[in-house]
Amino acid sequence: MSGLPKEIQKLVNLLVRLPNFGPKSSERVALYFLKSDIKFAESVADAILDLKKNVRFCKVCQSFSSDELCPVCSDYSREKSLICVVEDPLDVYAIERGGFFRGVYHVLHGAIDPINHIEPEELKIAELQARIEKGDVSEVILATNPNAKGETTAIYLEKLIKNFPNVKISRIAYGLPRGAEIEFADDLTIKASIQNRNDLN
Ligand SMILES: [Zn+2]
Repeated sequence: MSGLPKEIQKLVNLLVRLPNFGPKSSERVALYFLKSDIKFAESVADAILDLKKNVRFCKVCQSFSSDELCPVCSDYSREKSLICVVEDPLDVYAIERGGFFRGVYHVLHGAIDPINHIEPEELKIAELQARIEKGDVSEVILATNPNAKGETTAIYLEKLIKNFPNVKISRIAYGLPRGAEIEFADDLTIKASIQNRNDLN
């Protein structure tokens, strides 16, 4: 028992479930809300509900989008035959920050992780296969993270895409340190890893 009023404890118990939130940071945030203007608390609550109600998967690349198609997929100037496969929507934003990539994306929403029971069926792999089966894909860049889960996923996808002999497969170069995550890499490192990607077929 922390001795905190039950209303504070209730919020702390929720916040502690957030990524990178421990008990201490959860308490700090709960107290921050308590001291802040009620309008701020209402705005935060509204913004969370708004994103839950209105953000969905882009129907092509599966990234997050407020519309049926995300801004990248609805941009006519993007090279639609070049697909960069990433684990997470945050990887899309990290690569987009560099402003150099002219292709489109496919977001898997995770990586294959047998230990934690994440199997290929739980990722957006069938959707990727359907895009390739449509026949207008010339290259797939495997930009899953250079760590164990990302490598397992890249190997799985490489085998899958090799069934489509007209599709070039490439893997991002290891300008990214092994074990790294794209989301946290700097712009120049991301750019080098995509531009110096290695052919897999
Ligand atoms: Zn999209």
